[in-house]
Amino acid sequence: MLHVGINGFGTIGKRVADAVRVQPDMTVAGVAKRSPNFEATIADDRGYDLYAADGREPFEDADLATAGTVHDLIETSDVVVDTTPSGVGAANASLYTEHDTPAIFQGGEDAAVADVSFNARANYENAVGADTARVVSCNTTGLSRLLAPLKESYGVEKSRVTLVRRGADPGQTGRGPINDTLPDPVEIPSHHGPDVQTIFPDLDIDTMGMKVPTTQMHTHSVNVTLESEPTTEEVTSLLADESRLFLIPETLGIDGAGKLKEYTRDAGRPRGDVWENCIWAESITVEGRDLYLFQAIHQEADVVPENIDAVRALSERTASAEKSIRRTDEALGVGR
Ligand code: NAD
Repeated sequence: MLHVGINGFGTIGKRVADAVRVQPDMTVAGVAKRSPNFEATIADDRGYDLYAADGREPFEDADLATAGTVHDLIETSDVVVDTTPSGVGAANASLYTEHDTPAIFQGGEDAAVADVSFNARANYENAVGADTARVVSCNTTGLSRLLAPLKESYGVEKSRVTLVRRGADPGQTGRGPINDTLPDPVEIPSHHGPDVQTIFPDLDIDTMGMKVPTTQMHTHSVNVTLESEPTTEEVTSLLADESRLFLIPETLGIDGAGKLKEYTRDAGRPRGDVWENCIWAESITVEGRDLYLFQAIHQEADVVPENIDAVRALSERTASAEKSIRRTDEALGVGR
């Protein structure tokens, strides 16, 4: 049984902890938090041992028992998943080295924070036995899952992607925009293309980013020039065979992220999470060597199964991507 510590119990951390809990080969060693807010009480309700990142007194004042400090959590864990805010992960890196504990960072950190930038479908093997890995951002994860099978089957000459990004997560009350459509970042290419190149170093990709007033999901408008000329049906069938790509059938009547989230809530998914890329099946179009499609990416959820696979890769318990992905997906309910 792998003992997995979670440092930072926010949007991503609480989902990773719950995903670890349902894996047959993993258990939650505990979660580290700075403050005894509502997420700390949820961790306590779930039975996760709480460790104090910044001192135990605030937790004691709030009648929340702590099992120790973040150092104790790191020492007791086989692998730590750092899910602290962007930049804090890099500041924490020396802690993991000090305790000789393998660590996984998130996409808010620069690639230099870890030995490997990680996507399970694209480069699992690169992380097997590494000391550290960075699970790339939600958008880069979504693009890597799509581009990996396209590269393998048809070759990719050039990718052009416009990312229409949610302005904030539902709990981020201070972010926006609330009434505008922003080129963001206004510079081209946006940082997303270079981030995808941390997974596929030789890929030719240009990206443009926008921000819009929604908290639901990101939407990508994708154009990939392939090196060969498959039919629309062949590409559709290739993508349909990928476990973390969901092709939305026209018959479901899902016209956007709102109905997608409603669908997963109705289906009883925890927090209404959408772990898969959601590709509108009827948008998949091949004209000559140019493929076009729209996909939606749930920013709070798609990196969660990837973190589970990264834990297996670093711990060297599972050498094959396929085996780890299947195990993660079965335990979590991905693709169901
Ligand atoms: P978040 O703010 O929701 O959660 C971070 C948690 O870490 C909070 O509970 C915060 O109190 C806690 N924290 C802050 N400093 C800490 C410290 N020193 N020690 C321990 N805990 C500390 O952030 P998030 O959205 O979960 O993002 C975490 C990482 O995941 C970032 O790198 C982010 O870029 C990346 N990411 C976020 C999303 C998303 O859409 N939310 C998607 C993919 C990747």
